[in-house]
Amino acid sequence: MLLTADETIAAIATAPGIGGIGVIRISGSAAAAVLQRLFVPHRRESLHADGSFPSHRLFYGTVRDRHGTVLDEVMAVFMRAPHTYTREDVAEIQCHGSYLVQQAILAEILAVGTRAAEPGEFTKRAFLAGRIDLTQAEAVIDLLQAQSMGGVELAVGQLRGQLYQRIAAIRDALVEILAIVELALDFPDDETDILVADRLLGQVQEGVEQPLLLLLALADQGRVIREGIKAVIVGQPNVGKSSLLNQLLQEERALVTEIPGTTRDTIEELISVQGVPVHLIDTAGIREHEDAVEELGIERARQKMQEADLVLFVVDASQGLSERDRSLYASLDDRKRVVVFNKIDIADTGLLQELNSFFGAVSQVQTAAKSGVGIAELREAVYQTIIGEEEEVNERISCAPNLRHKMILEKTLVACSQVRQTLLLGGPADLLAVDLRAALDHLADIVGLTTSDDILDVLFSRFCLGK
Ligand code: GDP
Repeated sequence: MLLTADETIAAIATAPGIGGIGVIRISGSAAAAVLQRLFVPHRRESLHADGSFPSHRLFYGTVRDRHGTVLDEVMAVFMRAPHTYTREDVAEIQCHGSYLVQQAILAEILAVGTRAAEPGEFTKRAFLAGRIDLTQAEAVIDLLQAQSMGGVELAVGQLRGQLYQRIAAIRDALVEILAIVELALDFPDDETDILVADRLLGQVQEGVEQPLLLLLALADQGRVIREGIKAVIVGQPNVGKSSLLNQLLQEERALVTEIPGTTRDTIEELISVQGVPVHLIDTAGIREHEDAVEELGIERARQKMQEADLVLFVVDASQGLSERDRSLYASLDDRKRVVVFNKIDIADTGLLQELNSFFGAVSQVQTAAKSGVGIAELREAVYQTIIGEEEEVNERISCAPNLRHKMILEKTLVACSQVRQTLLLGGPADLLAVDLRAALDHLADIVGLTTSDDILDVLFSRFCLGK
């Protein structure tokens, strides 16, 4: 057994299956000793005189098992703390991407006194060592699970600390206000001179409440970008729903082959609209899978509409509006929608004008699904309807909070409104201090300073092995 004083952990870091290379990662104080024991460099003279590995240098050599049998030809690197992912000593072995070889190497590493890492344990160590805050650790999961380039950008922004910095600025503003309140507590005789309500109110509003509201406003867009939206294509038979879906999918199909681990639902397809994942539900597909009469298909379409975030309502512009179109449209209630006038290649201008005035201010797009006319405009309209037009929104989105953050930000806002109330009523300094400290505690929870072990366990268990 090698060193076990503090646990050194190891895991295969690359995805299971056959790949070009596989990476096995070891973190902890025994990392160097494990590497020295298993790895034989091709050129021993590149090592330090005492046989140890220079840090952050890549070596070519072989990995051998306990009996000296060569398991694979590999590249290996040793990275000395603290400039590593976990801030501990880290070693990585890049072997051929055979799952059996990776398993065999990992088995040898575990046999010399390391422990198999839990999912997310490397990142958890980076967090516990203070290299990253909790929002950055969450960004690592988001990045691995991102379904679109928009999700990737958001995760990278958060990984680079953009949300953390906003939270830190709000925290600083709160600390400044609390310092004044505490001064008033220390000098009760001067309390009224120190606590100038107007000035403090201004500080609460500008430094705390406004930035909190801004972050909360971004949370919904963050959810859309992280998780995507459900859009359903509805319309009467033969208006061109399947043709539209095929046009929307064409680009994706050309780019995306099968992603392992994802299941393909026959009636649900994933497309990316300017970086936003959109799960498209084709109700024509539902109809085709039903033996029963048309009505049943329409009923299923109505159900799907209720579950969707966005409805693409398709009408045949060459036919104009039927009673059934009107009744289906009426059942949309207040759902977000884009109205698609399809078959404009054979549409009559009079009918188009009629349609135009019927749908009024609703987002409208004219398409000819058969030839692909208007598809780019349709994508643009979908994006505008779900994300909005403001340029500014897009710029700020890289710090959009997730649901966990959002719930805590809401609690922080409640504490702040209590502070405001107390100030307005000329309430006592000790009451102000209680609410200000509560607000600070909430913010500390977002970045992980006070987060309970249970919540941390749940968060890190969402990771895959080796991360
Ligand atoms: P769905 O029943 O709503 O899914 O409609 P389909 O996509 O199956 O289309 C019904 C018929 O309309 C097919 O024959 C399509 O080729 C035709 N169609 C679809 N889009 C257009 C279009 O933009 N222009 C014309 N002229 N025909 C179209």
